Order: sequence, then C-alpha cells, then structure tokens
Amino acid sequence: MQITDNCVTRFHYTLKDDKGAQLESSKGGEPMTYLHGHDSLLKGLEAALVGKQPGDAFTVTLSPEHAFGELRSENELRVPISQLQGAKKWEPGMQAVIHTAHGHQQVTVLKVGHTMATVDTNHPMAGKTLTFDVEVVEVREASEVELSHGHVHGAGGHHH
Ligand code: ZN
Repeated sequence: MQITDNCVTRFHYTLKDDKGAQLESSKGGEPMTYLHGHDSLLKGLEAALVGKQPGDAFTVTLSPEHAFGELRSENELRVPISQLQGAKKWEPGMQAVIHTAHGHQQVTVLKVGHTMATVDTNHPMAGKTLTFDVEVVEVREASEVELSHGHVHGAGGHHH
C-alpha cells in the first residue's frame, strides 16, 4: 500500500548536511517507524513520503526553515542544572533536553556552574540544509488502538 494518513511506515534514512557529510543513519540498525499524519516527523520529510510504497527510494532536501529552523542569535539561556534531562553529570558540549512552554526542547550545554547551567537553545541542526536519502521498508494500516494513542505500537514503537 501507499503511504497516506493513519498508516504506519518504517523507513531507512541517511541524513547529510549541505556538504554531503553524513550526520545520522538508520542503516545497520532498526528502521525509523512512525504514524503518518500525526506530526511525528519533520513536515517536509513527511510530505515527501506521501504516496511512496515499500521498496521506493528517494532523496529530499530541506532548507533550514523546513527542517530545524534558522540559527538564532538570542539563544543563550540559564537554567537550573536539575532541569537538564539526559545525563547525570554535565559538561560543555553535551546535548540535553529541557521543558519549555513549547514542550521539550533539545539544547547544547555551554557552561556548567554549581546549580545553574548556560545552554544554547538552538537545535544542533538549526541553520543546516538537510538531505535525507530515504528507503521505504514497510507500510501498513495503523490499528485502532494506535490511532487513538497517536503513536505506533510494537517494533520501532511503544511497548506498553
Ligand atoms: Zn500507545
């Protein structure tokens, strides 16, 4: 079947920056699994997947505004270290997750004090033009339970 709203899709991807350097790849591991039409992927990537079927391979390039946004200059934030999620000990350069009014946000730790840390709120991939090499592995209809939860169950999804 073809990818459309409310289907579960598994795909392999390799992500490259505008110089062709590989940033991430699912090859050699589990494919990415998502529920189509529920805003679980970058919009531009999800749009490019519409109508594709297992075996299809394609490349899509997203400008920063369609990927993780432009680099912002007002980007430094001081937060209590206790609000950083993802590790027990923090050092400059590490990636953390913080809660904001807009939900979870990925940040980069710049400085670590006794109780406060300074973080860079630009997404690590902000300002980058990203190219995805995509290979569709599986497309199936989502179950009613998956649709009511808004996410995939089983392989590559939630187990609960
Ligand atoms: Zn669930």
